[in-house]
Order: sequence, then C-alpha cells, then structure tokens
Amino acid sequence: MTITAPLRIVYGTKLKNTMEPTTTAKKYIPNPQLPRQRGSRQAPDERATNFNEVAQGLSAEEAAREATRCLNCKNPPCTAACPVNIKIPEFIACLRDGDAGGAVSKIMETSLLPAICGRVCPQENHCEGACVLGKKFKPVAIGLLERYAADTARKAGKLKAPATAPETGKKAAVVGSGPSSVSAAAELRRAGHKVTVYEALHDFGGVLRYGIPTFRLPREIISQEIANVKAMGVDFVADVLIGSTLTIEDLLKAYDAVYIGSGAGLPTMPGIPGENLVGVCSANEFLTRINLMHAYKPEADTPLNVGKKVVVLGGGNSAMDAARCAKRLGPESVTLAYRRSRDEMPARAEEVENAEEEGVKMEFLLAPVEFIGDEKSNLKKIKFQRMALGEPDASGRRKPVPVAGSEFEMDCDTAIIAIGQRPNPIIQKTTGGLSTGRHGVIVVDDSGKTSLDKVYSGGDSIRGGATVLLAMKDGKRAAAAINKFLAEKK
Ligand code: FAD
Repeated sequence: MTITAPLRIVYGTKLKNTMEPTTTAKKYIPNPQLPRQRGSRQAPDERATNFNEVAQGLSAEEAAREATRCLNCKNPPCTAACPVNIKIPEFIACLRDGDAGGAVSKIMETSLLPAICGRVCPQENHCEGACVLGKKFKPVAIGLLERYAADTARKAGKLKAPATAPETGKKAAVVGSGPSSVSAAAELRRAGHKVTVYEALHDFGGVLRYGIPTFRLPREIISQEIANVKAMGVDFVADVLIGSTLTIEDLLKAYDAVYIGSGAGLPTMPGIPGENLVGVCSANEFLTRINLMHAYKPEADTPLNVGKKVVVLGGGNSAMDAARCAKRLGPESVTLAYRRSRDEMPARAEEVENAEEEGVKMEFLLAPVEFIGDEKSNLKKIKFQRMALGEPDASGRRKPVPVAGSEFEMDCDTAIIAIGQRPNPIIQKTTGGLSTGRHGVIVVDDSGKTSLDKVYSGGDSIRGGATVLLAMKDGKRAAAAINKFLAEKK
C-alpha cells in the first residue's frame, strides 16, 4: 500500500509550533490509510509498580499525522454520536493547522472537560464507534486528539475560560461536583446566573477524583479543568453534605433553582455470607482510600495492606480500576472474577487490555457464593460457583446460569466487590415530594426536572451508574431547562 502525505502537512517544520495558527490555501486531502496513532505508554512491568499516568498521549507529529486521517465529513456522524455533540471535524481541522488553542476552544463550546474526556470517555461507543473511517480502516483516534488539544493548549497557557453573559441576578445551587454537576454549573454560569456548587467531600470532581485512579487520570488534570469553571465565576464549597448540613428545602429558600448531581456512590453488595469479614470491601471504599486518602503510600495514616492474594469481583470500569490499583500494591496475585464471559464485560476494552498486560488474571463465568474466614474473622477463601450463559436478560446480555455441583474455593486475603452502585439515599430521604424509581434513582422528565418545582437532576443520580459523557449530557440538558425557566421568571 502506498501512503502519500497530505498536501497541507509539512512534517518537522510547521508542526514544531503547535500553538500558532497557520494558513494555507491548499485544498485538504485526507490520508485515511495512515496507521492510527496510539501514542507512547509506560511499559507494563514498569507501570504495574507505580501510580503515574500509563498513556502518555500523542506527540505533535503524531497528532498532526492522526488529524490528517479525518475525512472531514460534511454531516459528521462522530459529532452526532457524541453525547455532548463536540464539533469534532472542526477541532481536528484546527489541529491540522497547528492551532491547538483554536481546537480546544472549539471543543469547549460544548464540553468544559476536554482533557478529562480525552482520557476516560468510552469513545469506541460514541464518536469513534460512528467514525466513517472505521468501516474500512481504524477510526480516527478522536479521544487522543481531544486530549492532545487540551494538554497542548493548557501547557501553552491558552486554555481560556468561556465568556459568560451579563449578570442576571438569578441564583442556582448545584449539589455534587462530578462531571454532571460541573457541566450544569458551567452552563448556568455561561447564561449569567450566580452559581454555587456544594460538595460533600473535601475535594471536587466526584468519581473522577475519588474513583478513577491517577494512572488513568492525573489529579492536576481534574484540578485544572475545574479551575477553568471556577474562573468563569462558579463558587465551589467543599464539606457540605446536602441532606444533613443543608437540605434541598434550605437551598430552595436561598436559590432560584437547584440541580442535583449527587451520583451513585452507594455500592451494591452480593448479599452472601461472610461480607463483614476483615478483608472484604467495596471497590468504592478501596478506590476512595487509594485516591483520596493516598493509602497506597506506606506513610499514609491508614495504609492499605492487601495481603498476598487479591480477588476482584465484577467486570466493569470499577473492577478494572480496583484490580489495577491492587496490582500496584504488590500482592502475589490479583484475580478478577466475572460472572459472565469476556464478551459481556462492561469495562472499556482498552482498560481490560491494560489490566491483563499488567498481570491481572481474568476468570470468567464465576459467581461468589460465600466469603470464608478464620477464627479471627479474617477473610481466607471465597467459595465460587461456575456459571453458564443462558438466554439474554433485560440488559440484552446473556444471563449467567449456575452450574449445579460446580462450587470450589479460591484462596483470598482481600476481596474487592465491584458489582454495581446506586444513589446514596440521603437526599431522597430528606426531601419531601422527590419521586424516586428503581434502586433509588431520582425520577426526572425529558428536561431533567424532578417531581419538585425548580429542582432538576442528572448523571448517575438518575441513571444509577453510567459514564462521564452521559453525566455531562444530563447536566447540560438540565441547565438548558433551568436557563429557560429562569429567563421566563420575572
Ligand atoms: P459523580 O461523579 O459520582 O459525582 C457526584 C458527586 O456528588 C460526588 O463528588 C459526591 O461526593 C457528591 N455528593 C453525593 N451526595 C452528595 C450530597 N448529599 N451533598 C453534596 N455532595 C454530594 N465513566 C467513563 O465514562 N469512563 C470511565 O473510564 C469510567 N471509569 C469509572 C471508574 C470508576 C471506579 C467508577 C466508579 C466509575 C467510572 N465511570 C467511568 C463512570 C463515571 O465516572 C460516572 O458515570 C460519572 O462520574 C457520574 O458523574 P456524576 O456527576 O453523575 O456523579
């Protein structure tokens, strides 16, 4: 196959200055046959012993090369497939012109978290999954390009907070500081309202900060993107638990509208004997101790000791993150046990691959039936039952069915449960008239409005566990409805 360089790109000259826009009258000719760029990554053996970022992103040359693979579609399916409708071909065109600042400004017209989304969004299910190039070649590495644009602009000091409309005199309160709340807060502030974010924890970002490990999402990236929203004039207040320190009723007395983005921080437990043994914990607790309390450091106040054999139960992103964190604590083995098959795993394919490369062992079609401890109530073994795949269930995935007489025991010092989560019920329990649905999710209409006037919700608190992008989409949808309602309010 002959690979020809596109007309507009002159490697090694124009690309050296990645921040200055350049102009050219030449017609853009895409080069889809170029291999998809991947960027460099820490080697598996090395990264399994540290918490530094694994993927290093694209170099300027790689980004420029990748940008030339984009077909620049007139009606881009990637933009339509992005939950926040980022103008993808337009930002990629800026990168082709060496204008990372312009690229990130284009992204930030619809998404305030470009460096975060470039790192953690499941692009394969959204933009990259819809990329026309994917029919014949590999899709454009849109996530990596988004990350490159954001990182390059930030390093060059060109990441500008979006402009805000003149002050309206209206006030909105936002509960939680995860991606859903941050997106809602930014859109409300963009419209000129005074916005205050109330967060229960001592730091901001929600799951991005307490759930997703540093080796996937460095903390300075979260802080910098939140700083950008602060620079728009949004107030962030930490250590306020809504439903206890203040109630939704209190907020309604002081604000014109309230957005609840309190997430789904309550772990689901399997409900089997032995869950209270020492050594059994939820992924939520395990990851929070690592990410927020730095329990991986021996000098931490409450350092983690996982023992020799760690077993993680589950097959989603939380399970993968917990397994990879556990691996970095140096046990003899980390085994991930999932009750369905590899094909049904909800975790991102890239993260499954990363985990396996780092030495996490995967066992499929296994369901725990009992945690077994010693006389001091320390976990020693897990009893499993083998599963077979039956008919598809409500989720469309084939249902695991127990295989009779297949029980066996596996040695284990630490068991980390990552089988799902649901909303913490504190707001639901302390807010009269707030309708809730299955597993305690807050019920909303098509605009994100709850059963209460002036109260909106979105993200994991209405979905019970989804993705960063869907949480952002909900935050933006509700903010649009609140902005409309406040504009009509005398
Ligand atoms: P959250 O991010 O959960 O934020 C809610 C915030 O509200 C928290 O900070 C919480 O402390 C605060 N809060 C809760 N109750 C109150 C209260 N009463 N008062 C004040 N504050 C309150 N998605 C992806 O797209 N890609 C990934 O790679 C990915 N990896 C993940 C890894 C893990 C370990 C987990 C758990 C989830 C992952 N997800 C991933 C899912 C994604 O992180 C969530 O869907 C997303 O963060 C939900 O955003 P949110 O704003 O609705 O809630």
